[in-house]
Amino acid sequence: AKTLRLILGDQLNPQHSWFTETREEVVYLMLEMRQETDYVRHHVQKVLAFFQSMRNFAEELTKKGHRVCYLRIDDPKNRQCLEKNIGDLIDREQFDRFEYQLPDEYRLDQQLQRICKQLPIKTACFDTEHFLTDRMAVKRFFSGKKTYLMESFYRSMRQEFGVLMQGKKPQGGEWNFDKENRNAFREEVSVPDFPSFERDLGSLLQSIHNAGVQTLGEVDPSRFPWPCSRQESLTVLDHFLTELLPHFGRYQDAMHTAEPFLFHSRLSFALNSKMLHPLEVIRAAQDCLEKDPETYGLPQVEGFIRQILGWREFMRGIYWAKMPDYAQMNFFGHKRALPSFFWDGNTKMNCLKHAIGQSLEHAYAHHIQRLMVTGNFALLAGIDPDEVDQWYLGIYIDAIEWVEITNTRGMSQFADGGIVGTKPYVSSANYIDKMSNYCGSCHYSKTKKTGDKACPFNSLYWAFYERNREKLENNPRIGFVYNTLSKMKQKDEILKQANTYLSNLDDL
Ligand code: FAD
Ligand code: SF4
Repeated sequence: AKTLRLILGDQLNPQHSWFTETREEVVYLMLEMRQETDYVRHHVQKVLAFFQSMRNFAEELTKKGHRVCYLRIDDPKNRQCLEKNIGDLIDREQFDRFEYQLPDEYRLDQQLQRICKQLPIKTACFDTEHFLTDRMAVKRFFSGKKTYLMESFYRSMRQEFGVLMQGKKPQGGEWNFDKENRNAFREEVSVPDFPSFERDLGSLLQSIHNAGVQTLGEVDPSRFPWPCSRQESLTVLDHFLTELLPHFGRYQDAMHTAEPFLFHSRLSFALNSKMLHPLEVIRAAQDCLEKDPETYGLPQVEGFIRQILGWREFMRGIYWAKMPDYAQMNFFGHKRALPSFFWDGNTKMNCLKHAIGQSLEHAYAHHIQRLMVTGNFALLAGIDPDEVDQWYLGIYIDAIEWVEITNTRGMSQFADGGIVGTKPYVSSANYIDKMSNYCGSCHYSKTKKTGDKACPFNSLYWAFYERNREKLENNPRIGFVYNTLSKMKQKDEILKQANTYLSNLDDL
């Protein structure tokens, strides 16, 4: 039967079983569309990375003898929406079958189900063969339980896939080396240069702009840093394994004004677009440890594997267990608008200036910057989670809703009331100062809670707890905060300081 097979922009998995044989009657459809560039304003590097990777993928398929129909963003035949493009093609070319792979986003899942209902031909849906668990695995794992605990899911994954295991026991006798993975970075080792790719994305950038796509952030198209093919993704993986992994765990939570990436892998885009398979990355890290335990060390490797085998699969499972309700959750009822400096980095708070500044420059911030600087601030300031989500979904190279919203609304904003995390991730200047060199050159004083130049985190922190007393007081992991608060002599002054800041967020 003459078959049309859709490949979405984040389904660039060349090892998928669809491609094991070439078939004359099968046409692969790939679409650059306004429906995808416009559901939120994206970072320009994100749009470039997706389109360039899609184009490379289509070229590879063609080289291998597959038939590909590719509609570029500026093609006059492009109807810019999934329904219309698929409908047109099926009418024009008389296909007998339509096939697609399970999308990772709820929005597209619904849309494709709708399309299939309307199509007059047979349709079928396939797995992406990317994730290690199916959509509902996390829901099943925790069925009947009140809370979802990443750690227990992660341990079962270690056992199931035999990763870092000695029989039934974890290698090295421990599941977790978090205690050893909490160093600040004091420039004691240098961060190696990242591999660069020979290419110029100038004309692609031009056609994106010509098509009227609105973007945010900066780019130098002649030095585009993100891997846009499987080959380039493997180069980044190789660089990570040889140069960065030996230090990964130790500096995982560190932040530094001169090092936007530190020892992080920058593999999230290659993984989320499926150019790399999670298990190949996990096995490769494990192999490094086996071959050269002295250079690597279990805490470094476990710290990395936990993120992919644990967190990444866990977040995806939460997404499918809880959508679509998840996208509406606002446990604290936060309603404030996102301060304007999130869009230009123009703030006197040095930590935010750097975390936001590098996000605009590189479409990247690492986990602790996202969680403990921008996310921490948004939560303390009571920003509407819808606005927070929009920002994270637009700005990061790796932001796709299934992993963005669970991290942002869940882990970072606690808007889900404790599905992903057991307590809100908030801190005063103390934590930021311990893990970074931001505070030393800040306009604000990290030690002051009140008065001129007092660090905003220090009063907003207490005001957050005071404001949400009813919702948090009975949480056994938080009780101690309220004990401290009740004994605090300066309490009224601190709350007043916080109120002043809250009424002038844009000026901070
Ligand atoms: P590394 O630090 O090198 O980690 C290796 C890999 O582990 C990552 O590539 C990623 O695939 C995986 N990983 C690590 N932490 C997580 C996590 N919490 N959840 C899922 N996978 C994880 N990650 C995204 O891929 N897309 C997002 O939109 C996204 N939004 C986030 C929003 C907030 C508020 C927070 C706190 C975290 C978010 N993360 C997101 C998770 C994490 O910050 C990024 O995966 C990571 O910073 C990507 O950089 P890296 O590849 O250098 O990661
Ligand atoms: Fe951020 Fe406060 Fe430190 Fe300044 S003093 S860098 S605002 S935590």
